[in-house]
Formats: sequence, C-alpha cells, structure tokens
Amino acid sequence: MGKLARALQSRLRGVVKTQEPLARHTSLRIGGPADYFVIPACIEDILETLEFTREHGLPWIALGNGTNVLFLDEGYRGVIIKLGPRLGHIETLQNTVRAQAGASLAALISHVRSLGLRDLDFLVGIPGSVGGALVMNAGIPEGTISDVVTQVGALTFAGKFITLKSDECRFGYRSSRFQQERLIVIEGEFALGRGKSWDGEELLRRRKERQPLGMPSPGCVFRNPVGVGATAGQLIDQAGLKGYRVGGARISPKHANFIVNEGGATSRDVLQLIDITRSVVLKYWGVELKLELAVVGTCGVQY
Ligand SMILES: Cc1cc2nc3c(=O)[nH]c(=O)nc-3n(C[C@H](O)[C@H](O)[C@H](O)COP(=O)(O)OP(=O)(O)OC[C@H]3O[C@@H](n4cnc5c(N)ncnc54)[C@H](O)[C@@H]3O)c2cc1C
Repeated sequence: MGKLARALQSRLRGVVKTQEPLARHTSLRIGGPADYFVIPACIEDILETLEFTREHGLPWIALGNGTNVLFLDEGYRGVIIKLGPRLGHIETLQNTVRAQAGASLAALISHVRSLGLRDLDFLVGIPGSVGGALVMNAGIPEGTISDVVTQVGALTFAGKFITLKSDECRFGYRSSRFQQERLIVIEGEFALGRGKSWDGEELLRRRKERQPLGMPSPGCVFRNPVGVGATAGQLIDQAGLKGYRVGGARISPKHANFIVNEGGATSRDVLQLIDITRSVVLKYWGVELKLELAVVGTCGVQY
C-alpha cells in the first residue's frame, strides 16, 4: 500500500484497499483494479474519503452491490466507495422502516416481512442494495421503490447531509436526482402498511422462469423505450439477436435484455455487444436503445 492509501487508512475506521479487482464486486464479474477501494464503517468515513478525493483531485463513485454496473478491464483510476453491510442497519420506527444504503433489498424485505407485512415484496429478487435501488429507482413494471420510500438521507459532494422527501427525489424510470446531482444515498425511510400487499413467492417464481439467474449478469442492459409498445427485450429478440455472442459475452437465450458472462468475458466484449445490439435494433425498428446499465469508465460513470 502506498503512502497516500496509508494516510487515508489512518483517517478511517473502515477499510482501504489498493489495486482491488473490481470483477469481485459486480454481478457481471468483469472489471480491472481500482486504485482505491474504500469500505466505510460509518458516515464520517465517507466524509473523510470525499475530503481525500478533493485534496488529491481524484474521481470517485459510490457502489452498492454492483448488480447494475459495468467496470472496464482497465479498472478505475480513482476511489470506489463501497457501501455494504457495515452501513446496513435497519430499524423500525413508528409507521416506517429506516434502512441504511448498504443494507441489501433482501434484508429490508425480510425485516418488513418479520413485521407481518408484504409491502416491499414486489422488490423480491432484485439483488441490489437499498442505496443502489434508490439511485436507480429499481422496480418491476407494476411498481418501483419510489412508490414506498417516504424520504431519503443523502450526502452532497461538499459533505452536507440533506434529507429529501420522496417528491423531491425526482424519481423517473430507472432515474433519480441522486444520479443527476451525484449525491451519495445514506439511508431511506419506507412507509409501512400503506401500500399493496404483494405475493413475493409468485413474483420470484415468474422471475426464475424468465431470467437467467444462474449466470453472471448485470440484469437488464437497456431501458424499455417509451411509446413503442414493446420492451427492449422484445425488440432485441425480434431483431434475431437472442443468443448472439461476442467473446465470452452473450445475449441471454432466456431473456434478450440480459447480457451474460459465459466465462472470461471482457468489458470490451460487452461494450461491443451493446453497440451491435443498438445498431441492429435501430436498423430494424428505428428505435434508439438507451442504457440502463451504468458504465463506469476509468474516471467516471455514464448512465
Ligand atoms: C439478476 C438481476 C435481476 C435484476 N432485476 C432487476 C429488476 O427487476 N428491476 C430493477 O430495477 N433492477 C434489476 N436489476 C438491476 C439492479 O439489481 C438494480 O438496479 C439495483 O437497484 C442496483 O443496486 P446495486 O446496489 O447493485 O447498485 P450498483 O450496481 O452498485 O450501482 C448502481 C448505480 O448506483 C450508484 N450507487 C450505488 N449505491 C449508491 C449510493 N449509496 N449512493 C449513490 N450512488 C450509488 C452506482 O454508482 C451506480 O451508478 C437486476 C440485476 C440482476 C443482476
């Protein structure tokens, strides 16, 4: 570990790693080394880390469970701030549940179930963290996390903690204010007993039937286009691309909007497959597909 990393480590309760392979931290299992990989143990650690990036002019991104990102083979020349179980506390308040960003959605759902409620069961099977789900406004066609969140606590780059009511979060289809303003989500509060009660088992069964859950993948790669009357997966499928391969990356034969890593796929393979898919769908359907997957370049993130 170099001098800078040691200096950062001495300021934190959490962990600093250097040259950490990012393939270990994404569901697609792709990605070269990050110069700095920080696992904060508390909010002060995040503040110190942001301060460190400012002092040294380093780029940074927050990371949850890595289930919607593509890292490059070249890795990341900055600081990855990984919010995991150390920032994953969940507690019941009067009519709400508060969960820290590093908690998994699965843990949040089972906490709510332990209270005898099924309000969040529509999120069953989404493998992200609470923070990642709020940033991406994760969900299914019938509902998104924005339907059940009442407020979100977040940090600005300047290190200010702000609390935003749900209607201030500018939630849209797989988008939010947190992406646009690069806020770090710290916690979310979720309404209890006000929403619909979902049949999580049935939703999970449907998911297993339709999605290649046993393979490394980042979930859906493209957003469903608006006003087209077909999903991105249907457009890709009908353009004849299901099962199409570039190197170790393949358009899943089970779900055309999933790219799977069949072994040894590189980020270059995935990006090439994305380009081919986009141009074929544009040619066949005149529809420009937009990425749902966050592509993290060597120094920044592109939604
Ligand atoms: C098998 C499979 C099925 C999936 N099914 C669905 C589905 O049905 N619906 C759906 O919406 N998604 C689905 N996804 C995609 C993914 O699980 C969701 O988008 C999830 O919400 C991402 O959470 P994450 O913690 O993994 O985020 P990450 O992938 O770690 O990050 C996603 C983005 O959010 C940012 N980010 C993460 N945490 C924070 C934070 N605390 N503060 C600020 N920025 C942050 C990252 O920088 C990145 O840009 C699926 C993925 C897989 C692999």
